[in-house]
Amino acid sequence: MTSRSPQTQTQPFALAADRLFDGSRVLVDHAVVVSGDTISAVLPVAALDPNIPLRREPGATIIPGLIDTHIHLMRWESPLFMAAGVTTVRDVGNDLDWILDQRRRAADDLRSQRVLSLGPLLDGPSPNHPTVAWPCGDEQAVAQAIERLVAAGVDGTKLYVFFPTDLLPLAVRASHAAGLKVSKHCLKDGVLVAGRAGVDEFFHLDGILADVWPDHPPAWLDGWGLPGMKETLDAQKRVADEIARMGMVSTPTLAYWDSQWRIRTPGRAAGDDSPDVPACMVAWQGTAAREQGGADQWRRGLEAAQRFTGLLLGRGVRTLAGTDVPCGAITAGLSLWREMELLVGSGMSPTQALRSATSDAADFLERPKLGRLAAGATADLAVVRGDPTREIPAKPEVTLVMREGVTMSPAEILADARRANPTGEGDPWSTQFAWHAAKRKAKAS
Ligand SMILES: [Zn+2]
Repeated sequence: MTSRSPQTQTQPFALAADRLFDGSRVLVDHAVVVSGDTISAVLPVAALDPNIPLRREPGATIIPGLIDTHIHLMRWESPLFMAAGVTTVRDVGNDLDWILDQRRRAADDLRSQRVLSLGPLLDGPSPNHPTVAWPCGDEQAVAQAIERLVAAGVDGTKLYVFFPTDLLPLAVRASHAAGLKVSKHCLKDGVLVAGRAGVDEFFHLDGILADVWPDHPPAWLDGWGLPGMKETLDAQKRVADEIARMGMVSTPTLAYWDSQWRIRTPGRAAGDDSPDVPACMVAWQGTAAREQGGADQWRRGLEAAQRFTGLLLGRGVRTLAGTDVPCGAITAGLSLWREMELLVGSGMSPTQALRSATSDAADFLERPKLGRLAAGATADLAVVRGDPTREIPAKPEVTLVMREGVTMSPAEILADARRANPTGEGDPWSTQFAWHAAKRKAKAS
């Protein structure tokens, strides 16, 4: 990609399809009027000013640009996000300077998706992923880290697995005082401890196992697939009740869970066998996973995670669509459609799933102009063949994507990406994955 960022059209124009999902409702025979980078109106086609040029997309649905609320950016991902209609991503753990640079570039280059960032992972004194984490061992380290992140203008803070429990209230106070929400990976102490300390959002359902089954055999998320998990249903309901009472938000990243049984299944090349995932990702993610095995347990784990998500949904817990790309070597962009499918399998309707990836995400991120098609909203949208409001397609046919009023062809974006053939190397997470691979190799020899 060498050409300059495409320019916004200066004259207003309208786009119409069989139906339009505006972020909460389905409207039939409506058009979106785009003026510059903004939507100036959503109205019935019959009510359109005849002087405004109209582009019709028969047999298709217009949806707001999708938002993936849990990713770790690598440069190969960007065209794949855009081609799948994902116009905004929230990076939830990366090298700070690198991701802020990517955020700046993406703000100028409308061919890539908008980037929000939670900065690095704030972890305990010996971080699990040192390339993309800051160690936080005491009060001073936490206060300084958050002060630095606030000054850098991040969009929230992310506490990782080994973040010290006794420092949670301080991290929450400092983040909230700066107007930042706090998101957490809750592995060892559970979600309830984090919620009681004021953490706003929990990822991967991680920590629920500690809450519902404190003496479970050693396991991570795969422990959800242990036979004993079935006996915890009453505890799961109590925990879901408390999560609802505390108003916490769940971003379960079911697409990640799904990738784990797939990647462990013998005979499969990678997470989802996509030609657009660089070979190094497949090697880093696939080799480690296949060594560990446990495909069946992960598969049962996914089912249990979906059942628990159903308990949360039944209690009105806001649940956002996020995928954890590139973990599991899943395909950026398509993975968000997979997430919506899995959310439907957990009890959402297709429109609720679309909402979790559009207006619900935008509301939680406090970006009211994103994730909706309405007058005054940012002109980010996608045109999808068929009717995703009735059934979330496994392989969506996105025929047009628009960011800030600029219309782009997903087919051309994909063709450009394939020509560029990115190696997936040279990004902070590449360094991190290579570091883990070297460590595993040293341990094995
Ligand atoms: Zn993640």
